[in-house]
Amino acid sequence: MNASVRTRFAPSPTGFLHVGGARTALFCWLEARAREGAFVLRIEDTDRERSTGESVQAIIDGMTWLGLDWDEGPVYQSDRQQRYREIADQLIEKGLAYPCYCSRERIEKLREDQMAQGIKPRYDGHCRDLQQAPEGIEPVIRFRNPDSGFVEFDDRVRGRIRVENSEMDDLVILRTDQTPTYNFAVVVDDLDMEISLVIRGDDHINNTPRQINIYRALDTAPPEFAHVPMILGPDGARLSKRHGAISVMAWREQGYLPQALVNYLVRLGWSHGDQEVFSREEMIRLFSLEEVNRKPSAFNIEKLNWLNQHYLRNLPMDALEPEIEWHFKAQGLDVQAGPSLDDLRAVQGDRVENLVELVRQSRPFYADLEGYDEKAAKKHLRPVAGPVLVDLARRLEQLSQWQPEALEGAVAECMEACQVGMGKVGGPLRVALMGQANSPSIDRTLWLMGREKTLARLEQALAFIAEREALAQSGS
Ligand code: GLU
Repeated sequence: MNASVRTRFAPSPTGFLHVGGARTALFCWLEARAREGAFVLRIEDTDRERSTGESVQAIIDGMTWLGLDWDEGPVYQSDRQQRYREIADQLIEKGLAYPCYCSRERIEKLREDQMAQGIKPRYDGHCRDLQQAPEGIEPVIRFRNPDSGFVEFDDRVRGRIRVENSEMDDLVILRTDQTPTYNFAVVVDDLDMEISLVIRGDDHINNTPRQINIYRALDTAPPEFAHVPMILGPDGARLSKRHGAISVMAWREQGYLPQALVNYLVRLGWSHGDQEVFSREEMIRLFSLEEVNRKPSAFNIEKLNWLNQHYLRNLPMDALEPEIEWHFKAQGLDVQAGPSLDDLRAVQGDRVENLVELVRQSRPFYADLEGYDEKAAKKHLRPVAGPVLVDLARRLEQLSQWQPEALEGAVAECMEACQVGMGKVGGPLRVALMGQANSPSIDRTLWLMGREKTLARLEQALAFIAEREALAQSGS
């Protein structure tokens, strides 16, 4: 249909890229990719006080991590001040915008009076037809909104929307310091960047008719619009920090995979039958704005956790590797110092939900033990365990194959030879290898640990037992 669709994501860099923003960016990206269009990144930084370079970076990092690549930009509104002035002047020339000298006090008073009368506060057009400009006052520029008629548009998510012009007032488009207001800059930019489809949060839906009037004043057709509903916390309140509406990069720090988050976000308010898992290609092929739910969707962390584990188990290793390595580094571990990541995943994939847990629970495979868990050592590394571990070490040393089956065999033989049950071998062995009593199954733990580390740790545990024995004797 529309072969040259152009979408844009236009965040204000006044905070981090959070879940809501990321989902909007994803929808824009999907629409552009589905129709071989272009996706533009625009940084709406006209609010100089609240915009920070740090936020810009966080947005860029977040989008990059999620794999939402843009074709043009980032374009910064702060670089385009001249352009906004130019277009405002064109509107003034046409009589469609005008300088307004009203003082803040007057506007405030007007507002109070209107509220007292029970009418919606709106600018009364006082400066519309001023004959003479008052001296010494720097004016704002207001757009002359039509007095009669209406604005109507077909929102791709919300359907037909109609607003009477009498509902709108003359909005400020340039402030006294010459900076543009949001509604004006967004129109100038979307026009200049030839945006054909605007996808954004429905908190902007009331702005759209105002923007459409500016398009009309500039003798141009507005783009298509799609306003996506907001995201709620599980308690039905607007998603906030309290619900985990944290920055995209904080999700990374908590061990989530970008593939899981993207998959989760696409399903937040959109569905395709009861399918839950979508590859990127499938999303691009199947996503449609018309199927986006009009009602807000609720954030559900269990579902995200489920998807995260799904991707952790199933992603091709080359896609997973950079993320795992990132977490190794974050936890101060060397990925080269232990088993391959393929082997690690084979053993730990079912046991953990995220990468923080994965790396935390795998530490003993890559780094020296930092001592034993006190309770576990007290229980398992006792003198009686000494001979068992000696026997086991001898058997393991002699194994020609370091494979789970052979390892399991060696443990079984040891149990038989020492006349002990599994607990008397497994307990001490786990603590000897992992420093504590929790680990994957014995054969897989041994397999993953490798011969060299296993034998060294058995020796270390035997020394610990001996020392403890000696201490106990000297004390008695
Ligand atoms: N800067 C606006 C925001 O972050 C963009 C709205 C739009 O996409 O038009 O909410």
